[in-house]
Amino acid sequence: LNALKLDANVVVLGTDRVGKSALTVRFLSRRFIGEYGNIESIYSHNVVMDGRDIHFNIWDSPYCQDLSMETSPYEKKVQWANGFVLVYSICDRASFNSVTKLIQFIKDFPGMDKVPMVIVGNKRDLNHRRTVLSEEGRMLALTIDCKFYEVSAAENYHSVLMVFHGLIDRIWESKSAI
Ligand code: GDP
Repeated sequence: LNALKLDANVVVLGTDRVGKSALTVRFLSRRFIGEYGNIESIYSHNVVMDGRDIHFNIWDSPYCQDLSMETSPYEKKVQWANGFVLVYSICDRASFNSVTKLIQFIKDFPGMDKVPMVIVGNKRDLNHRRTVLSEEGRMLALTIDCKFYEVSAAENYHSVLMVFHGLIDRIWESKSAI
C-alpha cells in the first residue's frame, strides 16, 4: 500500500449554467471551450499533487430540483462521494441560494455531516455583473468550516487548480483522521 496514494470521488454540484462543466473541463484539460452539453459526465483522471498520487473520479451533472433524500437522483452519488465542489455564479443570486440548500441536503445524509466540501463562486471575470459579494461566499464557507474560492473558469486556470488542491487537502485530512 502506498501511503501517498488517494482515490477521490468528487461530485460537482450547482444550478444550471453556473459553470460546473467549464470548471471541471478546465481542471482536466486546462482548456476553456465555451459551450458544454448539459449532460451527465464522469471523468477519471490521475494527477500528482504535492507529491501525492491522486486518482480522481469527477462527476459533473445537470442540476436537479429534487432535493428530498429518498427520491433525489443525487442520492447515490452523495453516498459515493468523498468530496464536493459546490458552485454558484457570482452574477446569479439564485445559484448562491441553491448552494446553501445543497449543503443542507448533503449534510443530512448519514455520515455526511463532515464530508469535505469547497464552495466556489465562478465567473469572477464578470465582476461588473456581480450580484453576490465575496464576503457572502466567505461567510457561508465559514459557517460550515470549508474553503471558499472565487474563480474564473473562463480566464484563470490557476484559480481552478486551487479549488481541486483545496478539496484534496481536505479529503486527505479526513482520511488520515480515520
Ligand atoms: P453548467 O451548466 O453549470 O455546467 O455550466 P457550463 O459550464 O455549461 O457554463 C455555462 C455558461 O457559462 C457557458 O456559456 C460558459 O461558457 C459560461 N461560463 C462558464 N464559466 C465561466 C466563467 O468563468 N466566466 C464566464 N464569463 N463565463 C463562464
